[in-house]
Amino acid sequence: MAERLTSTSGAPLSTNENSKTAGSRGPLLVEDHALFEKLAHQNRERIPERTVHAKGWGLQGKFTVTHDITQYTCADMFSAVGKTTEVLSRWSTVAGERGAADAERDVRGFSLKFYTEQGNWDMVGNNTPIFFVRDAYKFPDFIHTQKRHPKTNMRSPEAMFDFWAGQPESVHQVTILMSDRGIPRSPAHMNGYGSHTFSMWNAAGERHWVKFHFKTQQGNEWYSDAKAAEIIGQTRESYQEELWNMVEAGNFPKWTMYLQVMPEADAEKVPYNPFDLTKVWPHGDYPLIEVGELEMNTIPENYFQMVENAAYNVNNVVPGIGFSPDKMLQARIFAYADAHRYRIGTHYEALPPNAPRAAKVNHYHKDGSMRFFTNDFGNPNAYYEPNQYDGPVADETVAEPPMKIDADAIIARHKQLEDEADYVQPRALYSEVMDDAERDRLHKNMAGGMAPVSDAVKERWLAVLGKVHPDYEAGVRRALQTGDHGDPSLPVTDDTPLEVDA
Ligand code: NDP
Repeated sequence: MAERLTSTSGAPLSTNENSKTAGSRGPLLVEDHALFEKLAHQNRERIPERTVHAKGWGLQGKFTVTHDITQYTCADMFSAVGKTTEVLSRWSTVAGERGAADAERDVRGFSLKFYTEQGNWDMVGNNTPIFFVRDAYKFPDFIHTQKRHPKTNMRSPEAMFDFWAGQPESVHQVTILMSDRGIPRSPAHMNGYGSHTFSMWNAAGERHWVKFHFKTQQGNEWYSDAKAAEIIGQTRESYQEELWNMVEAGNFPKWTMYLQVMPEADAEKVPYNPFDLTKVWPHGDYPLIEVGELEMNTIPENYFQMVENAAYNVNNVVPGIGFSPDKMLQARIFAYADAHRYRIGTHYEALPPNAPRAAKVNHYHKDGSMRFFTNDFGNPNAYYEPNQYDGPVADETVAEPPMKIDADAIIARHKQLEDEADYVQPRALYSEVMDDAERDRLHKNMAGGMAPVSDAVKERWLAVLGKVHPDYEAGVRRALQTGDHGDPSLPVTDDTPLEVDA
């Protein structure tokens, strides 16, 4: 027999369809509190949409250590081969809103929350090893170009390419975005990268710089622009459907985790800034070291509870894993927690997807909106520190080893366009990693995205491509001239910049 329907305070309800009225025709009586509660709840069903990465898909699963990396880290989750840790993943597109189609050409977020015994470690990455900009000052500007134009309320290729042409450090990431990997078949068919340089320290207090890689075991698969347009015509939820079908069929998506490890002193020697988010570390110099296997095998019971409420923080690190001087990483340490406090509320870390599962939470933060938990450590007198009641105390043994920082405080001005270092790695990707067919598709995809852009912006961006490789510029120019490109999947809507009356 079905359970009884109740109010939110648990009282049984006699109806869920007929309001209480004066006579059978109305008006309503204001004492029908259950009706008002129902309507009020509906008004509050949304929390603010993420400014970026609004459309997402999540699964729960586990991580298993397969190789010993204790020489690099004392992080508890890597302490023994065979050790498993629960994980919550969230993958996302960047630009589209919550209702956007899944199969758009865009970078994908690739976030993992590891519920370790030393607290949650959040690996808040992307499906690309690098990013468009290296300084957080440019991040809001960049995102504005990916979102809607303030007047047309449409997305603007003109703004995107205008920004990239003026910020040529972006060309590495734009090359990946316009390559085959710009429209992965599903989250299961793409790699994940921590992108930033992080640090690890071992039990002896020795620090190494590291990069995190999660390589798909399903293989990198992708859609062409034309195929993506066809799919979007049929369904906007192709990723959710694919992940759902895989997990329901017991065909759990898996990734192999690798590390790249750089001795601390090497950072002064390599011919690029190893903390620059627009650069990779070449595999030839820093080979991939296998660490473990990620298996995502469970569909969360409630999407909103576990995925919409999931709050990933780059500042959620655990002893043995730390930051690096990367400016973008440092800015994210502020921005992510700030976003969650705004979007979800003060105690967002206590919600089910975010609360640690294998670690006890002991802190002295008090009260505030939605403080729905007690002092977890069961010691009500110890609500300040220091105290005489044996309340929680800091553990100096988990302190990060000292990091030497000895430099002048400066604003390092970058010579946009002129810095050859910005073209070296996209050149390697274009001329050494891609084959002829991949280059051809890159030219056509890029031309498709650029087709609606003004000639002035086209020429400025083609000049940037020419600095990467003359064949790159020539190939895109040719595709633009012949119109030989697939249906552009960048939403092409406003083909000219707005004329503004003086
Ligand atoms: P490698 O040949 O050792 O590695 C190239 C990497 O490129 C492989 O990991 C491959 O991934 C990946 N790749 C292939 N096609 C694409 C694509 N369309 N978009 C993004 N990545 C792709 O070379 P290096 O390490 O010397 O790097 C050369 C260039 O490769 C770099 O400048 C960078 O542009 C790119 N790259 C490098 C990575 C790194 O961490 N070193 C990571 C990803 C890209 P897979 O093995 O899955 O096929």
